[in-house]
Amino acid sequence: MDQTQPPAQPLVTIRNCRQAYHKEASADLVVLDNVDLTLNEGEIVALLGRSGSGKSTLLRIVSGLLKPTSGEVKWRGKDLKGPAEGVAMVFQSFALFPWLTVQENVQLGLEALGVGRDDREERSEEAIDLIGLGGYDTAYPKELSGGMRQRVGLARALVVHPDLLLMDEPFSALDVLTAETLRTDLIDLWMEKKLPIKSILIVTHNIEEAVLMADRILVFSSNPGRVAHELKVPFPHPRNRFDPAFRQQVDDIYGIMTRRTATAVHAPAATAPSGFATPLYPVSTNLMAGLIETLSGPPYHGRADLPALAAALQFEVDELLPLGETLQLLGFARLEEGDLFLTDTGRKFADAETEDRKEIFAEALRAHVPLVGAIRAVIDQRSNHRASAVRFRDELEDHMSPEYAEETLRAVISWGRYAEIFEYDEEAQQFGLEEEDEDEEA
Ligand code: ADP
Ligand code: MG
Repeated sequence: MDQTQPPAQPLVTIRNCRQAYHKEASADLVVLDNVDLTLNEGEIVALLGRSGSGKSTLLRIVSGLLKPTSGEVKWRGKDLKGPAEGVAMVFQSFALFPWLTVQENVQLGLEALGVGRDDREERSEEAIDLIGLGGYDTAYPKELSGGMRQRVGLARALVVHPDLLLMDEPFSALDVLTAETLRTDLIDLWMEKKLPIKSILIVTHNIEEAVLMADRILVFSSNPGRVAHELKVPFPHPRNRFDPAFRQQVDDIYGIMTRRTATAVHAPAATAPSGFATPLYPVSTNLMAGLIETLSGPPYHGRADLPALAAALQFEVDELLPLGETLQLLGFARLEEGDLFLTDTGRKFADAETEDRKEIFAEALRAHVPLVGAIRAVIDQRSNHRASAVRFRDELEDHMSPEYAEETLRAVISWGRYAEIFEYDEEAQQFGLEEEDEDEEA
């Protein structure tokens, strides 16, 4: 915060860090490459990047929970071996124990530190009051709203008085208003110097959140993850989202992020032999069709500035990028310098009737999502025209984490159904063909 006094020594330095996941069936998956990062006392740093870019992986490396494949990780100037003392983490999923009360959840961290019982109670009381949970000590998580649960997550992290607070998309599971209240409360406490911490590293895919909270933003690129850009946020707190300078910085970051995705999405798709390595967002076909229609009509006529489009559609700014990226991946639109514009295929889709749309969509899937073709090929080979989802899930997990594999599979299921390339039986977890298709084959 105080830029006049340079910090004596960084809290964390990471140099030339690389993280690869070893795969039996294919080349290692390189998630982080050449990552440099410095965190100083007294600052809030945001790590901003797309889903799957390696943010959580880097956070685990900073915390000492994960040792990188190679590279240097120092905590207060010393090599980090094992979990760093003085680091606490807040998770998107809150990660509370449902059978423990608020107070017991908060005290957990202290027990691990070997703090005595009386001290534990006093300190958890302090943290609970500080974060606005006074009176809820004996409540159970299920009795609390999402916002209150995340306050418990915060109290549990703060109670150990960590030097560094790590937050992994802490507000993204909350509704917009609740998230905003929590951000503001946290920043107020930080500005009033009431938080028992020295520095915050927050991971987010939400551009506005980064500009609202951070002193410094590290923009992360994907495939593999790398710190590609660093920006200082010059605005004093409390910050105003509607300040033109604030909007300009959000716009600039949109530009930076779409510049990169334009290359990142295209390069690996073209070079990856199977094309399975790209995680897909389970974006609904309704939403895609709606966006294509909106883009093609007035006032956009095929091209829109992303922040303006987000505002017009009343989307959170970060909801639009996955959607735009998906349209780009399927060849319906392109992202460039903060704009989203329709391709010829996108225009054709916009002008087509329902049945033709399905066909155009099916063509796009066959051209750009090899997994869809692979699934259909297996179905066609089988005499019963059925294929279990398990083998495709396994194959995806060779290229991505189980969470991303699941999302990718869900995307492919819903898109393939819409395009009538295959059916999916949820109960049996099997792909198959529609009745009439089967008759045709037989
Ligand atoms: P982010 O937090 O930015 O969404 P993650 O760090 O969770 O990204 O994941 C980055 C990439 O690493 C993703 O492609 C993910 O599928 C992959 N990944 C993460 N953990 C594992 C793992 N244990 N095994 C294989 N791949 C993984
Ligand atoms: Mg993550």
